[in-house]
Amino acid sequence: MSDTVFLRETFAERFGGSPRFFRAPGRVNLIGEHTDYNDGFVMPAALEFQAEAAAAARQDRIITIHSLNNGRSAEIDLDAEANAPRGDWTDYAFGVAVMIEKAGTTLKGADILVSSSVPVGSGLSSSAALEVVTGYALLSLSGYAVDTVELAKICQKAENEYVGMRCGIMDQFISCNGVHDHALMIDCRSLERKPVPIDPKARIVVANSMVHHALADGEYNKRRQSCEEGVRLLQPVLGDIQALRDVSFDALEEHRDLLPEATYRRCRHIVTENGRVLAAAEVLERGDLDAFGRLMNASHVSMRDDYEISCAEVDKLVEIAQSQPGVFGARMTGGGFGGCVVSLVAAGAVDDFVEKVRAAYFEASGHTSDIFACAPQDGAGPLF
Ligand code: ADP
Ligand code: MG
Repeated sequence: MSDTVFLRETFAERFGGSPRFFRAPGRVNLIGEHTDYNDGFVMPAALEFQAEAAAAARQDRIITIHSLNNGRSAEIDLDAEANAPRGDWTDYAFGVAVMIEKAGTTLKGADILVSSSVPVGSGLSSSAALEVVTGYALLSLSGYAVDTVELAKICQKAENEYVGMRCGIMDQFISCNGVHDHALMIDCRSLERKPVPIDPKARIVVANSMVHHALADGEYNKRRQSCEEGVRLLQPVLGDIQALRDVSFDALEEHRDLLPEATYRRCRHIVTENGRVLAAAEVLERGDLDAFGRLMNASHVSMRDDYEISCAEVDKLVEIAQSQPGVFGARMTGGGFGGCVVSLVAAGAVDDFVEKVRAAYFEASGHTSDIFACAPQDGAGPLF
């Protein structure tokens, strides 16, 4: 997937000199949606799609970046009085530089050429891939060893505080710490992680609905507020709870009258979804793919009805995927209101699945879905 010759030549033309190469993958989340910012559990895998960077240190403290995806260039002076967000794509990259420096690490300037194969804005986290590859390159070129847990935290901070998107840590964490052929079960409170092998009898298949409804970002922040409201209203009766992670299903049911109806349903999604992720790790480990698939299906119902982050096109695509031969389960993946559907499919049934889902979804929606089987990859690092 990588073409270092092209990157090297393009870098030489644009900046001159000989760069080093870095990569950071996008991701698909198998189960555990919107649980990360509730201190809960998630189970993503890193994809073959990745952001790649050719980069070289400069003598000054200026960072210049050029993206081959949008053909744009920009620069930032790390010694400027104040570096404010610009409200565009550069915030993902420069935000990371600003947060690294804020944390007390001094960077060298750098020339960076970025090229990403992660589809942008489809719920496969092109944003985290861009952040992580930039952070990895800047730290490496400045002579630091990269701590991938710290880098994930820095990149999340950049997206929260510089981009202004209040995302949890999942995307950055899996881009930094993915494991080849494994999904990664992450405890988003302790940041403990456990690789869970994907049975070779099954393949992860991602299907893009090709729609993305504009309300996504605003609704995302609203869901966060509902979760915070739930915690605030439950605290007086449940005592020392920090997040919905600390609320059991029984406790939520017992005190549901304390919550407005919509808030209750938002909380119920998070509480039941955490339970599903824990169960999913267990069944995947013992190779019970049917049970894993049922958990995926239940997760979709919960996102659709309780968290209300799906949309008609995605529901249709999920329904089509779930009705194919050889499918264990299917659900929306990512922030919501469009984007991708992830399915677990018997290895021998994948080719038929792809063809039939594409045809049926086109018939139903008029959109031609990009569908691909994925093999989980390692997290960010040097690219050779
Ligand atoms: P997702 O992370 O699901 O792909 P986001 O809305 O979080 O969607 O992030 C997409 C944004 O990230 C783009 O609009 C763009 O600003 C930025 N971005 C990601 N990758 C690149 C890239 N290679 N070049 C330029 N901008 C990028
Ligand atoms: Mg993103």
